[in-house]
Amino acid sequence: MPEDCIFCRILSGELPSFAVGENERAYAFADISPATRGHSLVIPRVHANDIHDVAPEDLTACALLAKDVAARAVARLHADGVNLLNSAGAAAWQTVFHFHIHVIPRYERDPLRLPWTPVPADQGEIAAAAAQLRG
Ligand code: AMP
Ligand code: ZN
Repeated sequence: MPEDCIFCRILSGELPSFAVGENERAYAFADISPATRGHSLVIPRVHANDIHDVAPEDLTACALLAKDVAARAVARLHADGVNLLNSAGAAAWQTVFHFHIHVIPRYERDPLRLPWTPVPADQGEIAAAAAQLRG
């Protein structure tokens, strides 16, 4: 586990996060700069840099957890659609080098255009959305 990996530090509890869901091999939490309301990240508990070196069983666990979070985004946040996004490599916009799947709830007429510009949001609002999504 790289000591400078932000997501490993979240998994260890060293850094805070707003939990959304989990299973044996994966953890889901609120993105700190949400593209839309409820934007969440799903990560494997075991460090992997990106899609190229994530273990198959960890990728499966992340995909299944992303499916759960996507369903809750529709059921609880009343999202009209959901984007799942993964970036591998700086050229593909990857900025945190611990494999993650973005689960991005989409709303009719929401302003999101890819790529979005991350803007820090109100912590209480992020927490409220995470609480609605939490499994
Ligand atoms: P990417 O650019 O695909 O590597 O996505 C990295 C994501 O991690 C961005 O959407 C960031 O907003 C998000 N992020 C970075 N640091 C944190 C953090 N401490 N807690 C939650 N999300 C974070
Ligand atoms: Zn890591």
